[in-house]
Amino acid sequence: MNIAIIGSGPSAFYTIQGLLRECETVKLDIFEMQPAPFGLVRYGVAPDHQKTKNIIRLFSKYLADKNVKFYGNTKIGKDINLSTLSKLYDAVIISSGASEDKELGIAGSNLKGIIGSAKFVGWYNGNVIHTELNPNLNTKNAVIIGNGNVAIDCARILAKKTEEFDHSDIMNHALKSLLNSNVENIYIVGRRSPKEAKFTIAELRELGHLSDCTPLVDFDENNLKVILEADDIDTKIKKNIEVLLSFKDIKKQSRKKIIFKFLSTPHKIIGKKEVEAVIFKKNKLVNNKIVVTDETETIYTKLVIPAIGYKVSRIDDLELDEYNNFYKNKEGYIKDNIYTSGWASGASVGVIGSNKIGANILVKKLLNEIKPNKNNPTKEIENVFKENNVNYISKDNWNLIDKKETNDVDAKYIRKKLANIEEILSLISIKS
Ligand code: NAP
Repeated sequence: MNIAIIGSGPSAFYTIQGLLRECETVKLDIFEMQPAPFGLVRYGVAPDHQKTKNIIRLFSKYLADKNVKFYGNTKIGKDINLSTLSKLYDAVIISSGASEDKELGIAGSNLKGIIGSAKFVGWYNGNVIHTELNPNLNTKNAVIIGNGNVAIDCARILAKKTEEFDHSDIMNHALKSLLNSNVENIYIVGRRSPKEAKFTIAELRELGHLSDCTPLVDFDENNLKVILEADDIDTKIKKNIEVLLSFKDIKKQSRKKIIFKFLSTPHKIIGKKEVEAVIFKKNKLVNNKIVVTDETETIYTKLVIPAIGYKVSRIDDLELDEYNNFYKNKEGYIKDNIYTSGWASGASVGVIGSNKIGANILVKKLLNEIKPNKNNPTKEIENVFKENNVNYISKDNWNLIDKKETNDVDAKYIRKKLANIEEILSLISIKS
């Protein structure tokens, strides 16, 4: 059976794991837009969360399998069409995640200085598309919109001192920029109450241990205690509220502050060419629903990071769900011989391991439904790439990049990621 997989993040690799386990004869060709594999693990997981990135060791084992091929630096719709893959392979699996920011959709949200979390995270993590972003950190206030773990990641990166990035694989350009940063107040603003915040406990707790930053909670302490004392409170929410309450006991001098604000809906962003301020409308919660009031609060800033979730990028004419967040599918099936898994197939929520269950279901479904009859698509694919002058990154090329990234690194860090495509291509042509 010949299968094309688009994307090489967690859902792709859990699907590959399942297919290699269940089908001895399967041949898998991975098509990845970035020059390097591992998607969200390499480009999304925070550089100072190396334990989470350890899953790369397992994924590398599957990448090394003789039946798995890698075509990095290839974009579907530009370098090769989905219809060509569909014609050449027994099945195509779209596991390309959700790499674009959901839009804030309020007045002023396209001003310079408003940088969605996908871009901001990509900048410090070496995503080749976002390395040139150069966010303006010459601002006393930074505003992060959203109450999820990505908001926490962005805040923590802005808050840390250089030495707190030791043993990470943060990009050098980001480290330099953060070193010269004038950001002092990092606002994390949620539209609902602390009870509805989507932070997880460990991530929230970590903010209490930063060396030069104090977390502050701009929410009435008694109201936090009311949430805590409710009979039906979920354990995870209870722990989150306890952590928020515990922040009040942190008594230290620090240059930076992370300030949590709740019940504030982004209303308008003002500025001429560049963002100057965000105006929030204050909310009341009535039966768990937000009721927006006329009261407003303005935060002056040159940097706004909406961390409000992700959506897929368009591939050819594939239909999207009603909110345009993922590819429309029925239990992983899109159309013809095209399937999907992970964040490409549903809401962008959950941790790396959450993709495993969905991947295993998809593997069973594929093995039931696909009647293999395609022959050696790899040869034809490589011809298409040759004809179109596509400089794809092979598995051997990646091994070379991997070696350089880990050899060239300063002893304090884990890896010096290459994120400039010209540099990567020249490395490959020189050494291969
Ligand atoms: P998320 O957890 O879904 O949080 C998105 C936040 O944005 C929510 O607070 C949401 O508020 C808010 N939001 C959405 N639209 C908004 C709008 N128009 N205006 C204002 N606020 C808006 O998403 P995420 O933070 O992007 O994280 C994605 C997934 O990755 C999550 O499951 C997360 O836990 C996971 N993750 C895990 C880690 C980790 O384990 N260390 C790190 C990063 C990410 P409402 O609730 O009101 O909609």
